[in-house]
Amino acid sequence: MTTHAPNVTAQIDPAKLDRLAEVAVRVGLNLQPGQDLLLTAPAAALPLVRRIARHAYEAGAGIVTPILSDEEITLNRYRFAPDASFDRAPSWLFEGMAKAFSANTARLAIVGDNPMLLSGEDPEKVARANKANSIAYQPALEKIAGFDINWNIVAYPGVSWAKQVFADDEESVAVAKLAEAIFSASRVDVADPVSAWQDHNKALQGRTGWLNGERFAALHYTGPGTDLTIGLADGHEWQGGASVAKNGIVCNPNIPTEEVFTTPHALRVEGHVSSTKPLSYQGTLIDEISVRFEAGRIVEAKAARGEAVLNKVLDTDDGARRLGEVALVPHSSPISKSGILFFNTLFDENASCHIALGQCYSKCFVGGDRLTPEQIAAQGGNKSLIHIDWMIGSNRIDIDGVRADGSRVPVFRQGEWA
Ligand code: ZN
Ligand code: ZN
Repeated sequence: MTTHAPNVTAQIDPAKLDRLAEVAVRVGLNLQPGQDLLLTAPAAALPLVRRIARHAYEAGAGIVTPILSDEEITLNRYRFAPDASFDRAPSWLFEGMAKAFSANTARLAIVGDNPMLLSGEDPEKVARANKANSIAYQPALEKIAGFDINWNIVAYPGVSWAKQVFADDEESVAVAKLAEAIFSASRVDVADPVSAWQDHNKALQGRTGWLNGERFAALHYTGPGTDLTIGLADGHEWQGGASVAKNGIVCNPNIPTEEVFTTPHALRVEGHVSSTKPLSYQGTLIDEISVRFEAGRIVEAKAARGEAVLNKVLDTDDGARRLGEVALVPHSSPISKSGILFFNTLFDENASCHIALGQCYSKCFVGGDRLTPEQIAAQGGNKSLIHIDWMIGSNRIDIDGVRADGSRVPVFRQGEWA
């Protein structure tokens, strides 16, 4: 693989890669002069890491600190590390990250590894390592999920990821295709990506403005294998596109993004729902999920593939069986139209309406910045170590907004805004 790497990287348009770096720094993070930046990335994404660091320093960044991971080193852990180590995580590192965020350091994550990397490893070890990691990461994750600081995720077309998405193509062709798909979804294949993002943010704000004016009590979904009522949290607020972090900086946390989303009520979800696309969860593909909710809690969960992993995830904690996010994405979104299954939530969640199990975003409440965790819970916000998005939208899904008085307003018809 190493010997092929230079050829493969040559398939990635350097001008577009540079624009992606610029968009990550200027739109995604909106990095401020003097602000430090903590960056995590797969080692394969080094060409993008270097360009981001350069744009960051040009924007006046204080110190840019990259932390790299590597697929082969990760696999070596699963194959050779002592068994007891799978219940541990480098908590010192996560504590340091939390400390950095407390000192207003911005956060950028690059995804690019093969999402199915761990699919051949012992699921027991994968689950234990994930749990240990989630617990250790919690103090840092809270600051990200709570938007204490400006943060952003972008993608890089790693070889093994590209081969997962375009399995029938040669490495160089697969990388070229994934690169173009990432550039197009991230809106950097246009002459002026920064203004393209300003227009896109305005369109998303139009949707959130309408939904926030309506103040629906619940959303009712109907479609094949789905009859689901999702109560919305008291004082919920719809978000989408750009977001103001608590440090006052307007950032675009996800690139790409097509969704508008808010917080469901953890106790008010009833009925059954089926997934419409496979979920790639930390190396395992979970497909054809169907679950039943009672009083907000999943009481029955099935999957045609990956059911054991799904049930392990649901047993992480009590909040893992409840919803923390509900998101609306039209079936005609550019990522959906591409028809590509990316095996990565950053992309796949933007192809379809979705819900997320686990932790809610405090940002998705009116005045959420000032609410205590107790107040958020009292208003229906869910708490969990996990946050896992999965897709329930298609061109056969209808969604009604249900007002407090029981009257209904069409929100989606056949997968599109009504
Ligand atoms: Zn989402
Ligand atoms: Zn989510």
